[in-house]
Amino acid sequence: MCGIVGHIGKAPLRKFLFTGLSSLQYRGYDSAGIAFMDVQKNIVVYKSVGTVENLETITPQFESHIGIGHTRWATNGLPNKNNAHPQVSQHGRVAIVHNGVIENHSSLRIHLQNHGVKFQSSTDTEIIANFLEHQLLLGAKPLDAIKRLFFLFEGSFAIAVLFQGEERLYFAKRLSPLVLGRGKEGNYCASDPAALVGYANQFFDLEDGDYGYLTEEQVILYREDQMLDPRFAIKDLEHYEINLNGYSHFMLKEIEEEPSVIEKIMNKENLFSPELLSLMRNASSLRFLACGSSFHAALLAARYARSLGLDAYCYRASEFNVDPFYPQEKNAVFVLLSQSGETVDTLDSFYLLKSKGYPLISITNAKESNLARKTECHLYLDCGVEVAVAATKTYMAEVALLYRLLSEAFDKEYKTFFEEAIFSLKEVIARKNEISYLASPLARVNRFYFLGRADSYDASLECALKVKEVSGVSCEAFPSGEFKHGPIALIEKGTPILVFLGEKGGNFIRLNVEEAENRGADTTIISSCSQDDIVLPHAKGELSALSFVMFGQYLSYYLALELGKPCDRPQNLAKSVTVR
Ligand code: GLU
Repeated sequence: MCGIVGHIGKAPLRKFLFTGLSSLQYRGYDSAGIAFMDVQKNIVVYKSVGTVENLETITPQFESHIGIGHTRWATNGLPNKNNAHPQVSQHGRVAIVHNGVIENHSSLRIHLQNHGVKFQSSTDTEIIANFLEHQLLLGAKPLDAIKRLFFLFEGSFAIAVLFQGEERLYFAKRLSPLVLGRGKEGNYCASDPAALVGYANQFFDLEDGDYGYLTEEQVILYREDQMLDPRFAIKDLEHYEINLNGYSHFMLKEIEEEPSVIEKIMNKENLFSPELLSLMRNASSLRFLACGSSFHAALLAARYARSLGLDAYCYRASEFNVDPFYPQEKNAVFVLLSQSGETVDTLDSFYLLKSKGYPLISITNAKESNLARKTECHLYLDCGVEVAVAATKTYMAEVALLYRLLSEAFDKEYKTFFEEAIFSLKEVIARKNEISYLASPLARVNRFYFLGRADSYDASLECALKVKEVSGVSCEAFPSGEFKHGPIALIEKGTPILVFLGEKGGNFIRLNVEEAENRGADTTIISSCSQDDIVLPHAKGELSALSFVMFGQYLSYYLALELGKPCDRPQNLAKSVTVR
């Protein structure tokens, strides 16, 4: 997924690069690197494995007014120093940072090897660096060399490039995000405006196929051979401001923001246009497309939609994009959810559906993301930046927004259940200590399970995902009724099973619990009944499953603490999944 930044001008470069990269670490944090041009116009590179903070400690003070930086989520090649960006070409004339994946990298690598290029890394990015250098050696100008990438390189790339001796910051974009910024000290580029807070006040979102270069005063931009005068716009970056407000971790802070996130969605005026409400009312079916936590949020929404009499289905976007399904009905409405709005699997699905002309609604927490900009009907979660990589409050916001949308479209009163949900989430916050006590024994086992039924099963899926993501403990969720049809074979003496006993199928679930206990499972029932192990007294009503989800979020958080895991930046993950 990777985050890239670049600057040319008078801003204090070292400080800018490290501040910008720190705010992009949600995009990846397995290694980081910077490159700048020194006074002799030589390219100097610093790289390290791990976080931007690691890199900062090994980077001396320096003076320069042109530089690029990168924080990596490895796709091609191990996450080691050699493969970290910037990647430099064989003769040191080109340094590049890259977000994306070059799909035809093998043939390009062989082609360049046949021309004598010796590669130092296993990245696809080094191929771009060497291709550009090879073009220079053949006599091409940097801009022409960059333009040729669009013809020969398949896949995605947002790049920032330094050419030795050139006081220009080159860039190009296809499929991966890249924004240009302008401030009083010069020009910038970044994967996300968040990296430019405090430096740029005007922005320009590049389109696929755009390339060009920046000088301190100028922006030279080409689109399909035409030189373009980019119209920079002022963006309100207030919502990018982040701080811990006294919390120890962003994950904890963001979990505890959930009641107010829901309250905001409940109270917002004129949230949906009359056109959108009538589109929903006239839908012959609703089809949700999403990945990860957003997919789980869609499951709850689809369940609610079905209770209103609608046909509603959920598809994993990462499956749909390779095996799409196009319903025959004219009024099938597709709803695409992606917290970042950059999830490439969801974007792929979006393009497939758009080409078939289906009505599309997108929901994101990033207002200027690809998905948001490309969908005519976009709904903004508006729950503030979610810094912790694993989704928590955005999941809640997605469920809440869809619940309100469906309720309004079908003239259902929604405030009562919203208020119940807010109240019950506050109860869970008040009881978080009880959840923390569970973490220590669970941290000592290497796997455990969640069981639920109906909406509490949807909730258990999200909880199992959160446990895996944040604590690294192996955890699966099963519909409790399905457990006896196979997974029950996994039970050994003492296997921990956490059971969400919701309003639907309570007696059946108790039977399933007995079946599991008879085979040695160590079960813990979480319900609103006073007789059970963990009591969430107000987990009632249409949105009651949300308190189970919050329970699972807390549990994951406490498990991570027990195991000494970095809960805000779990291993191998990134927040914006821009690769297939
Ligand atoms: N393909 C590049 C690498 O592995 C960039 C990865 C990305 O953008 O996620 O280094």
